[in-house]
Amino acid sequence: AKAEGRGTYRVFAADMDEEAEERRVLESDLRQALADNALNLYYQPQVDGASGVLVGFEALVRWTHPVRGEIPPSVFVALAEETGLIITLGDWVLREACREAATWAPSLKVAVNLSPRQFQKPDLPETVLAVLAQTGLSPDRLELEVTESVIINDMARAISILRRLKGFGVRISMDDFGTGYASLATLQAFPFDKMKIDRSFVAQLGVDPQAAVIVRAVLSLGRSLRMGVVAEGVETSAQRRFLADEACGEMQGYLFGKPRPIGDYAEMLCCPDES
Ligand code: C2E
Ligand code: CA
Ligand code: CA
Ligand code: CA
Repeated sequence: AKAEGRGTYRVFAADMDEEAEERRVLESDLRQALADNALNLYYQPQVDGASGVLVGFEALVRWTHPVRGEIPPSVFVALAEETGLIITLGDWVLREACREAATWAPSLKVAVNLSPRQFQKPDLPETVLAVLAQTGLSPDRLELEVTESVIINDMARAISILRRLKGFGVRISMDDFGTGYASLATLQAFPFDKMKIDRSFVAQLGVDPQAAVIVRAVLSLGRSLRMGVVAEGVETSAQRRFLADEACGEMQGYLFGKPRPIGDYAEMLCCPDES
């Protein structure tokens, strides 16, 4: 039993080494991908809740590893967060998304995800301002999506950074609303323009009666706090109908379009002044 125990331990230790080694390799591959400009951005349509008219796109980062193929963002964005590479990655995403959006019809906005780590850099507002200046994108066409974790890390600093960003005219959305710890007080203290109802609630519409109660409550909260509400993960016309009946401001999900290379949506980007 003793020998077996030791053997088990050794296998376990070897697994750990292997895992750590795999992480190190993936980290260095990601670093290389960033240096080679080998990441891609996909874009997912966001539509007006009542009319279904396109209002903009959310930019979502993609990485096709040369050997391992498509790596999910849940894996490599998390790795980038842990290693600090998220700063380089986040800067690239922001610049690329703004550069792209500047070529669209002026009515279309772009939503960019910001990770909590990016908020720890006090020069975030200056970075955003520089990117807007370099790309020529009007600030009111940029929406920054942040999660509730940004708030709990360092509340005072986060508020001051968000205020400065809003001072430029940039909009701020609270992502994945309902999955974190945001209290009503924090929601009110933070200068959010929008809340995005997490897709876990939308997915349960028509399945779990509680989901309808929660979604209605979030929409009502949004109206009371004068924040827009975006429903994420809308996949069925029944979900869409429910949300439209409840006057949900904007929607996003596979029903309207999956995240794709922007070229796949080329016909939707056309500038009105060209027609
Ligand atoms: P998120 O910001 O909540 O993005 C929405 C996720 O839901 C995306 O997953 C999108 O593909 C997926 N989705 C959209 N509509 C539907 C639908 O109708 N049904 C289903 N089942 N899924 C839908 P994705 O692209 O895998 O991204 C996962 C997460 O990775 C994002 O969640 C975000 O937290 C993070 N992420 C992605 N791109 C970036 C980025 O550029 N920067 C940062 N910091 N995080 C990013
Ligand atoms: Ca998002
Ligand atoms: Ca989300
Ligand atoms: Ca999410």
